[in-house]
Amino acid sequence: MSQNHALITGGAGFIGSHLAEHLLAAGWRVTAVDDLSTGSIANLRSVEGRPGFRLYVSSAGDEALLRALAADAHVVFHLAAVVGVKKVMESAIQTIEKNLHTTETVLKVANLFRLRTVVASTSEVYGANPRESFREDDDSIIGTSRHRRWSYAASKLLDEFHAFAYFYSTSLPVTVVRLFNTIGPRQVGHYGMVVPTFVGQALAGRPITVYGDGRQRRCFTFVKDVVRCLAELAARPATVGQVYNIGSDQEITIMDLARKVKAMTGSPSEVVLQSYQEVFGENFVDMERRKPDVSKLRAAIGYAPDTRLEAMLQTVIDELKPRG
Ligand code: NAD
Repeated sequence: MSQNHALITGGAGFIGSHLAEHLLAAGWRVTAVDDLSTGSIANLRSVEGRPGFRLYVSSAGDEALLRALAADAHVVFHLAAVVGVKKVMESAIQTIEKNLHTTETVLKVANLFRLRTVVASTSEVYGANPRESFREDDDSIIGTSRHRRWSYAASKLLDEFHAFAYFYSTSLPVTVVRLFNTIGPRQVGHYGMVVPTFVGQALAGRPITVYGDGRQRRCFTFVKDVVRCLAELAARPATVGQVYNIGSDQEITIMDLARKVKAMTGSPSEVVLQSYQEVFGENFVDMERRKPDVSKLRAAIGYAPDTRLEAMLQTVIDELKPRG
């Protein structure tokens, strides 16, 4: 059989670049397509020039390009999307139009070549569901369309429906993954991602800004664990037509996260509260908790993300420290 070949949309992004590294190390060929809207060539420094790796700087919504690249691919990992609450709030039209159009194109081309397909969705699709931990068949409780923040969840949910429509209508071998807060080196803070923001603030001695009352709880997952799960799920035929949570189930409040970052960096920074209204304008709602139930993932691949939070934070600190 010819060498396995993966197409990664959003391959110059945070998760996409780690996935490219992981697959190349496992002997795959990798083609990344990225418009560099939030990703960067620098993310691919470790794989640039490696035999078997190619990057196309383009929209993954370019159907002609995608058809050409998909012709000899085996798997497509669809990660390209407008990501991050802050970015989504700032560019609501783009979030909806770009995310839907890109996914439509990727699924159409994947179906044409019958590619094994993995579509990245998000824990945001559980919306305001109050459950303590989310299972894959739980309901999505999406808030009113008057609140822009829900557009990301709604567009990702539609991506999921679209993926499963292909599965039911054409038997496209597709798997949907719902990623929970993923962290690690190369994630950037300017689109509202909390860990690089806190670490950057702490290292610079600026106030560490906690939104709301800081009692909201999140589970953070190491990016290297996530990409391993993506590759494992894609390799298993039994995961076709299924959706999986990918996340860690260690919870921490955002206030405790801020304190931990302050302690680990030895920073003199103050931890300060900032209201959601101040940051995002009116009508912002946030979820109290977002914890995955990972039993389905564990049953499928025999593993769930388990890197300790301190170890993950240290990788981010080590990366950002030299930059000052
Ligand atoms: P990221 O912004 O680093 O990666 C997205 C990449 O897609 C970027 O490189 C961007 O330039 C590219 N891109 C965006 N639109 C594109 C398009 N139309 N064509 C080509 N490239 C395009 O973010 P990430 O954290 O790596 O996210 C990857 C995926 O994982 C996204 O689908 C996101 O919704 C999902 N996700 C991430 C998290 C997380 O915590 N990081 C959580 C849930 C879901």
